[in-house]
Amino acid sequence: MTGVAATQLRVPYIIAHADEAAPQPLSFVRKPFGGLRLTYGDPRRGDTVNGVLRARVLNTRQGAPQWRMLNTLRQWRCMTKNLCQVCGKIATDPETGRIPWITTATAFREIPEISTSGYTSAPATCAACIPESLSMCPQLHVSSAVWTVSTATPAAVLADMFRPDPAGRAVHTGEHNVFVGLDERDLLRSALATQLVVRIQDMQPAPHLAGTP
Ligand SMILES: [Zn+2]
Repeated sequence: MTGVAATQLRVPYIIAHADEAAPQPLSFVRKPFGGLRLTYGDPRRGDTVNGVLRARVLNTRQGAPQWRMLNTLRQWRCMTKNLCQVCGKIATDPETGRIPWITTATAFREIPEISTSGYTSAPATCAACIPESLSMCPQLHVSSAVWTVSTATPAAVLADMFRPDPAGRAVHTGEHNVFVGLDERDLLRSALATQLVVRIQDMQPAPHLAGTP
């Protein structure tokens, strides 16, 4: 930790840093059984996760924080391991086995007729980090609720969408943060995932975690 900013404001674990940007040499290739699929020209281990092509980023936390951007690798890691998006440690309460979660209007999608479950692109926040999170993030003041949940299961991604040009090069369609279900095979062929979306289950209100009596 160096500098005045670091002592005043902790940079959350999932926030992207300027020097973590990586080249994205994308193209379309024709797969067996027909059909074009978005891929990297130099495929590497870890490019494809949950059957989805994932945007490449470094995981160094070097460079200025990009407050409006998430680091894809760390966001994904939080979602699959139930880590806290602020401190990066396990968010699950060791006594109850339940996971504390803040939901916001922008990062939460309801499931009609199932009020205790929903889709979210915002990872868990551990109990220790919740008060800080609520006090520091202006967006959370506007529309947030604190819950505990029983499970979080990968269900979809937010993706940038691409189309092939006549030479097979990948052209961004201009669409960002498109919600694509992990079962939407056709759409996934043209998607570069930047965030993993989970379905959280058995949501129970937990206002005591927010410091509210
Ligand atoms: Zn935490």
